[in-house]
Amino acid sequence: MVVGDIATGTEVLVIGAGPGGYVAAIRAAQQGLDTTLVEKDAYGGTCLNYGCIPSKALITSADLAHQAGHAEEMGIHADPVVDMSQLRDWKDGIVDQLTGGVEKLCKANGVNLIEGTARFKDENAVRIAHGGEGQGSETIEFEHCIIATGSRVIQIPGFDFANEQVWSSRDALAAETVPDDLVVVGGGYIGMELSTTFAKLGANVTVVEMLDDILPTYESDVARVVRKRAEVLGIDMHFGEGASGWREEDDGIMVTTETEDGEENEYYADKVLVAVGRSPVTDTMEIENAGVEPDERGFIEVDDFRRTEVDHIYAIGDIVEDTPMLAHVASQEGIVAAEHIAGEPVAFDSQAVPAAVFTDPEIGTVGMTEEEAEEAGFTPAVGEMPFQASGRALTTGHTEGFVRIVADEDSGFILGAQIVGPEASELVAELALAIEMGARLEDVAATIHTHPTLAEAVMEAAENALGQAIHTLNR
Ligand SMILES: Cc1cc2nc3c(=O)[nH]c(=O)nc-3n(C[C@H](O)[C@H](O)[C@H](O)COP(=O)(O)OP(=O)(O)OC[C@H]3O[C@@H](n4cnc5c(N)ncnc54)[C@H](O)[C@@H]3O)c2cc1C
Repeated sequence: MVVGDIATGTEVLVIGAGPGGYVAAIRAAQQGLDTTLVEKDAYGGTCLNYGCIPSKALITSADLAHQAGHAEEMGIHADPVVDMSQLRDWKDGIVDQLTGGVEKLCKANGVNLIEGTARFKDENAVRIAHGGEGQGSETIEFEHCIIATGSRVIQIPGFDFANEQVWSSRDALAAETVPDDLVVVGGGYIGMELSTTFAKLGANVTVVEMLDDILPTYESDVARVVRKRAEVLGIDMHFGEGASGWREEDDGIMVTTETEDGEENEYYADKVLVAVGRSPVTDTMEIENAGVEPDERGFIEVDDFRRTEVDHIYAIGDIVEDTPMLAHVASQEGIVAAEHIAGEPVAFDSQAVPAAVFTDPEIGTVGMTEEEAEEAGFTPAVGEMPFQASGRALTTGHTEGFVRIVADEDSGFILGAQIVGPEASELVAELALAIEMGARLEDVAATIHTHPTLAEAVMEAAENALGQAIHTLNR
C-alpha cells in the first residue's frame, strides 16, 4: 500500500519551522490543540540557520577582533589573529545548539514533527513529500493551517548565486576565508551589517547602492551616524549606482555598475555579495489549491488575527503583507494565530514593533518618528540625549549617536523612539515596553535608572522632551 493513500488528521498544521512556525506550533500545543509541524530543511528556519543568529555570532567576533586591535587609547596594544575555521566552528556550534533546542521544545510540548515539503491538495489537506526520490509522501488533513514558509534572497539579473564568486547573505555567513576585496550590492540592513563585519575582519569593502543613502528605511540623521562610522572603518560607499554585471579577471572579478544617466563604473573584488532584499516563499506549495491568493509580489494579506481570506488558514512571518520581515514579528504573529485558533481574545498590534540593525553603531527603533507622529495628527514633543554626554558611553569608548524619544505633547504618551549608538538594540526594549504600557514621558523620566549605564540616556531623553534635562541642554 502506498503510504500517501492513508490520510492522517491534525487540528492545527503548521508549515515551516522558522521563528514564526515553531513558536506558533508550541503555543497551539500549549493550548491543548493537536498540532503538527512540517519542515523541509532545518528547525529554526532562516533566523537560526542562515540569518539572525549566525550573522550576530560573526558580528560579535568581528567586533571583538576590531576592538582589541584598536584600543591603544585605553593602553591595550594587540594585533589579533582571526582563525576563520575556528570562528566557523564556534558559530556553527551555536546554531546546532539552538536548532536542537527547537526540536526538543517542540517534542516536549507535544508537537508532532514531520520532515518534508508540504503542498496543498485543497483547503483542508496537504501532501507532504519526504526528502528525495523514493522516500514517499503522506497526506495530512487539517482543521486549521498556519502557513509560515518565510522568505528567500532576491537574485538580480547577471548575478547568479550558483557562481562561487557571487555570494548571497547565506554564503557570506558560511565564508571559509575573508576576501581581500568585497563588493556589497545593497546598503540595506543586511548589506550594512555584513559590510561592517567583513571590514572589521580585514576585507576592503565597497558598497554600491542604487538610492542616495544607506539604510533608506531609517531617518537620515540615524543613517548618517552609521555612514560616518562606516567611512572611518574604510568602507567605500557609492550611491546612485546599480550593479549591472561582473566578469572574471586574472585573479578576481570586476563588478560593473551603472548610474541613472548611463555612466558605468567598475570595482575590483574577490567576491560580490548581493543583498538587495528578500521575497516571500509562497510559490512552491501550490497555495492556490487552498484558495489563498498572494498579491503580485507573493505576499499574503491577513487580518488582525493573521487569518487569510480562507477563514481556517492563517499566514505569519515574512510572507505577510505590510509587516516588517523580522523574526520577533513572525513569532508574535505565530502566537496570535495559535491563540486565535484556540479561541483566545487576541489580535496583532503593530504599534510597538521594535527593530534593530546590528551595524556599528547599532540602531534600535520603535513606533513613530517625529514626521510620522505629525502625519498622524499629533503635536510631537521630542527629546534627545547624545551618547557623547553619557558617562557610561565614554567609559566604553563608543560615544557616537543619540537616543531620541517622540511623544504626544498634549498627553505625554510615548509614541516612538530612534536610538543609534552603543547597545541600541537592547536599549530600545525599554521604549517598546513604554509604548506597550501606555507610559508617558514622566513615567520614563521618573524611573530611577542605574548609574552609570547607557540606559540613563533613555531617561535623559525623556527629561529633555519635558524640558527638564540635567546632563544636556534642553531643546
Ligand atoms: C542575514 C540575515 C540576518 C537577519 N537578521 C535579523 C535580525 O537580526 N533580527 C530579526 O528580527 N530578523 C533578522 N532576519 C530576518 C529573519 O531571519 C526573518 O524575518 C525570520 O526568519 C522570518 O521567520 P519565518 O518564520 O517567517 O520564516 P523563516 O525563518 O524563513 O522559516 C521558514 C521555514 O519554512 C520552511 N518551508 C518553506 N516552504 C516549506 C514547505 N513547502 N514545506 C515545509 N517547510 C517549508 C523553510 O525551510 C524554513 O525553514 C535576518 C535575515 C537574514 C537573511
